Amino acid sequence: MHSSGLMMNRPLLISGLVQHADENHGDSEIVSRLPNGSTHRYTYHEAHHRSRQLARALLALGANGDDRIGTLAWNTHRHFEIYYAVSGMGAICHTINPRLFPEQITYIANHADDRFVFFDLTFAKLVEALIPACPGVKGWIVLCNRDEMPDSATPNLYCYEELIAAQSADYKWPEFDENTASSLCYTSGTTGNPKGVLYSHRSTLLHALAACLPDSLNVSACDCILPVVPMFHANAWALPYISALTGAKLVLPGPYLDGASLYTLIEEESVTFAAGVPTIWLSLLQHLQAEKLRLSTLQRLMVGGAAAPLSMMQTFDSYGVALIHAWGMTEMSPLGTINAKKRKHLTLTDDEKNHLRIKQGRTPYGVQMKIVDANGQELPHDGKVFGDLLVRGPWIVSHYFRSENVSPLIDGWFPTGDVATIDADGYMQITDRSKDVIKSGGEWISSIDLENIAVAHPAVAEAAVIGAPHPKWDERPLLVVVRKPGQKVSRDELIAFYLGKVAKWWIPDDVVFVDELPHTATGKLSKLTLRQRLREYRFPDVSGNLI
Ligand code: ADP
Repeated sequence: MHSSGLMMNRPLLISGLVQHADENHGDSEIVSRLPNGSTHRYTYHEAHHRSRQLARALLALGANGDDRIGTLAWNTHRHFEIYYAVSGMGAICHTINPRLFPEQITYIANHADDRFVFFDLTFAKLVEALIPACPGVKGWIVLCNRDEMPDSATPNLYCYEELIAAQSADYKWPEFDENTASSLCYTSGTTGNPKGVLYSHRSTLLHALAACLPDSLNVSACDCILPVVPMFHANAWALPYISALTGAKLVLPGPYLDGASLYTLIEEESVTFAAGVPTIWLSLLQHLQAEKLRLSTLQRLMVGGAAAPLSMMQTFDSYGVALIHAWGMTEMSPLGTINAKKRKHLTLTDDEKNHLRIKQGRTPYGVQMKIVDANGQELPHDGKVFGDLLVRGPWIVSHYFRSENVSPLIDGWFPTGDVATIDADGYMQITDRSKDVIKSGGEWISSIDLENIAVAHPAVAEAAVIGAPHPKWDERPLLVVVRKPGQKVSRDELIAFYLGKVAKWWIPDDVVFVDELPHTATGKLSKLTLRQRLREYRFPDVSGNLI
């Protein structure tokens, strides 16, 4: 038997974050671009005040206990208030990705059994279709002022600002067990139905603490942070929690995620740190280049959700901005690894640094990872051998919501579905998602490596590599390219571009040019859709006949 420590057993609760921000950084700002085009500006003190008014409003509407309360909303101060009010009162904040197909959204809202749903006016049409399909929802709350309310015959439609205005902030956050569920987010469900990941207050707090560390997102009270990653995608990578925990100024972009809008916001609000998927940073770069602009305050960008190419990191270098690679999953809250240097790396040559920084990084305390072969045998950490990546830790899923009788774990480890290498220093590099890896003659080819090379070509805007069927090799790599506007590059030039950069048998067999590539609801390349679009594709033989 071990004896208990004699320390206070104060629960780790999400309400404690906004309370801390109010008490210690009460005048620090939260700035939002709202869907109606206006800019909203207030402080953590006011955010805390309104979160308590909102909690009272929800209680007055009859919400309670472990009710799921959905959101279909952009990153704004109102969504921030919902995060804190709903989890803070002990209910579950269920962020829904509005970019999913309506049938998926209906499935998700019904599977979660959402009691109330908050939505931005942008999604009014979508909600009209959802109302008859989701009879369990007792109230739909529009994130707007009274005079912006849509003309609708729906009886249980409420105005957000009116609900808040009717309440005082005389509300004390309840205290309960830190293992209580706090929020819910469904994976995109590229295969089968979306699956719900149910976070707890404890997992959220531990994750947020680890995510702030200098070798993680490195956020402090001196920062001004811009989560471009949506609050409906894996908790906006914890930034709404990290901002309150640190007292950093928070800038929320609303629906304006194009390069020009982001540039203006970054400059006007003096943003120092921003986070998002590679396609977002690609559009910011295109805007900077087209308009010959500079960035005056931005220091760091976090990129994750999909692999970031070295060429993108180098272009941001020339703007004085560090593009930091990270990897994670909805199932991991989402942070798994971040590419932070170690002391011994400070003296590396540029080539060595580049080799290191394209990796997805190493784990913060709290995440453990390993790679295994097809028989589950652990593989060496030599940076060369790749295998299935497994993880475990206190902010990693143990069961999916409402599938508690089936465990996704293998001997206590969560299989990520990614294939990766891990080097002797603990840096992990994703080879591919296991379903995207190209299987050529029994060997594996990394589509990510081939895409990274293609986008380094000056005429290429975006590229994807998929395995297309081949009678002899089973699959061979096919490069699909979007050219930059006004640029010309031929199939043969692109294939020649690979010479000397990868093993000969890795070089794509053919190139298809397209006007645009399909993306998923979270802004990643959708290889599934691309494979469907190109399912009739056949490689030509040397004389041009299809094989
Ligand atoms: P979805 O893509 O299904 O919307 P997630 O955001 O949870 O949901 O996706 C997690 C997956 O995204 C990972 O398993 C991995 O395949 C991919 N991913 C995330 N970050 C990176 C990265 N930096 N490089 C390569 N792949 C990444």
